[in-house]
Amino acid sequence: MQLTDYIRTIPDFPKPGISYKDITPLLINHKACEFAVSELVKGLKGQHIDKVVGIESRGFLFGMLLAQTLGIGFVPIRKPKKLPAKTLSQAYDLEYGSDTIEIHKDAIQKGERLLLHDDLLATGGTAAAACQLLEKLGGEIVQVNFIIELDFLEGRKHLPKAKVNSLIHY
Ligand code: AMP
Repeated sequence: MQLTDYIRTIPDFPKPGISYKDITPLLINHKACEFAVSELVKGLKGQHIDKVVGIESRGFLFGMLLAQTLGIGFVPIRKPKKLPAKTLSQAYDLEYGSDTIEIHKDAIQKGERLLLHDDLLATGGTAAAACQLLEKLGGEIVQVNFIIELDFLEGRKHLPKAKVNSLIHY
């Protein structure tokens, strides 16, 4: 199966100059989703994982499927003021301005082995901030995986070395 067949590129969305990678054709096909999950699991090479952490919002889609497939729990990282209990926040820089993500403080226990997942790696700012949150809570990041990686933006240089796995590279 060729996963790129299920990714649609939309030019100039959400603003001019951005080439948006749309995963909805993948979501609509359950066989392709099954294949994507099995490939992501294969990339873990049998390493033990305690929890999957997904980044809002598209990181929830395959993050939850991965957690169910691995038979482990799922933890959401969300945009500010969405999580109801005590949170830890991390701000990060964007091209223009900054953004913040949050996690429940009690979601990760010290020493837990974590898989961080998002749909796409671009500049790496979001995933790097998520890694900082997980490290502050004492988690051990085993792998950070993505469906899609935009290689030309070199986002992986902001992430733990040798721990990044992406299914599709543009
Ligand atoms: P970054 O922090 O630059 O790595 O951006 C990653 C986040 O932005 C991910 O959660 C993606 O869902 C989203 N994103 C960034 N660029 C794109 C793109 N070209 N197509 C689709 N989503 C994108």
